[in-house]
Amino acid sequence: MLNLIWFRNDLRLADNPALTYALQADQEAVALFIIHPDQHKQHGEAPAKLELIKAHMIDLVERLKKLGVRSIIKTLPWFDDVADYLIELAEVEPFESIFWNENYWLNEQQRDQQVTAALEPMGIKVNPYHSNYLLPPGTVRKGDSSMYHVFTPYKNKFIETMKSHYALPLSIPKGVVHKNSEETTSIDHQFNHDHFSADLVNMWPIGEQAAASRLKAFVQHNDYQQERDFPAIAGTSSVSPYLAIGVISANQCLAYMLKAHGESAFHSTWVSELIWRDFYNDLMFEYPKLAKHQTFKPQAVDHWHHNPELFEKWQCGQTGFPIVDAGMRQLLQEGWMHNRVRMIVASFLSKLCLIDWRLGEAHFMAHLLDGDLASNNGGWQWSSATGCDAAPYFRIFNPTTQSKKFDQEGAYIRKYVPELESVSNKEIHDPASEIRKKCAYQEPAIDYKVARAKALSWFKEKIEDLKNIHHKQASY
Ligand SMILES: Cc1cc2nc3c(=O)[nH]c(=O)nc-3n(C[C@H](O)[C@H](O)[C@H](O)COP(=O)(O)OP(=O)(O)OC[C@H]3O[C@@H](n4cnc5c(N)ncnc54)[C@H](O)[C@@H]3O)c2cc1C
Repeated sequence: MLNLIWFRNDLRLADNPALTYALQADQEAVALFIIHPDQHKQHGEAPAKLELIKAHMIDLVERLKKLGVRSIIKTLPWFDDVADYLIELAEVEPFESIFWNENYWLNEQQRDQQVTAALEPMGIKVNPYHSNYLLPPGTVRKGDSSMYHVFTPYKNKFIETMKSHYALPLSIPKGVVHKNSEETTSIDHQFNHDHFSADLVNMWPIGEQAAASRLKAFVQHNDYQQERDFPAIAGTSSVSPYLAIGVISANQCLAYMLKAHGESAFHSTWVSELIWRDFYNDLMFEYPKLAKHQTFKPQAVDHWHHNPELFEKWQCGQTGFPIVDAGMRQLLQEGWMHNRVRMIVASFLSKLCLIDWRLGEAHFMAHLLDGDLASNNGGWQWSSATGCDAAPYFRIFNPTTQSKKFDQEGAYIRKYVPELESVSNKEIHDPASEIRKKCAYQEPAIDYKVARAKALSWFKEKIEDLKNIHHKQASY
């Protein structure tokens, strides 16, 4: 009997139930990896993220060989092509069961439903497992079974549930070499690493062990509570690209924390951030409209300002607000941005420039190595006051104040905005005109005070419009 393990965003051997159960009782198994270049493009994901996925895939194929599992790497343009391909594959590799770890987003769920509908009538057993989040979406609900719309009560119930369901991550299964194990891997993909530079590989070394070492070092040092808001310090774990493609699991993150800090880790700020990841995924699961880029809250007027020139300045890190420009340039250079700065640049675009948050969301997705549909959407809707439990519209970050507070000495700014390298700590957050001229750094693209006042009245008007619409609807 042959089992097929279909790896998706779970590129790891440890804590991988699909792999573990496919190999149970010394079963012979073959691993399948599918690269979807067109689907990836349609989802607007970063080319570098696809290269990161491929690099981890190649590493995993080698490690699977040692477990006696051979691999197939297949290129198929779209998710819709998978069901037919698997029917054909079953002719050549007569698998009787297929194993995977669940993906919960709309297109992925539709793909898996198509595959199940195609394979089950052929007598092939489909075995889905939960593995990529702390808890399966749908687990944490209010007494009336509805989804929480506020994070804190969700988190409290989540922790309670997690404590009573906690299980150690699965270890790497033992493999058994079968007669076919030595066969070469079947690859129909042209690998080219154009989008994944040596610098990026240095920043995010390839392989499950490298990711685990980073995690281990982080939980042992862990001064997260004090350091997490300062972008010049490596005070956060920077494991997000690994989590996004499943090189490590959220449960492994939790397990490392529990091992290092005991039961109190359940209530730590870092675990709370992991729960935000689950929260946004759970929201997207409950409200598939979010995967279609609709706002969580109904919007009265969805006509954001059309200002391509300003948007381009924001994209390129040329707004004249040093902290904003540093963040946007970090994104372009490294495919990553510190969370505090993500909040600053997102608030800048959606609240101060009144530019549609969806443009920002798409730009992030096109460049982030950790680009994650649910977390990115959640972060953007939080920042633009359109989301669930979002920052209210009147909470508008002042980029200069944020910069003074969180990058006091300007170290982060200097790293990414070299024009300002020689500017004093005092001046660097908002240099005077003559300094800007001297450094060839541009003037602010907007006037903060004017933009803030405009934003406040614009959002207020939208809310009033919305109330009027509801009022009219109610009186019909
Ligand atoms: C506008 C905006 C867009 C974002 N887009 C993404 C995205 O596409 N992908 C992504 O993984 N995160 C996103 N985030 C959340 C957060 O910025 C990153 O997860 C974090 O910066 C990653 O760095 P880290 O691994 O060092 O995080 P740590 O602070 O060490 O946190 C550990 C892990 O918890 C999760 N996490 C932390 N903060 C959040 C959060 N606010 N929401 C959801 N999960 C969180 C991440 O998986 C992260 O790796 C976004 C935030 C904002 C404000």
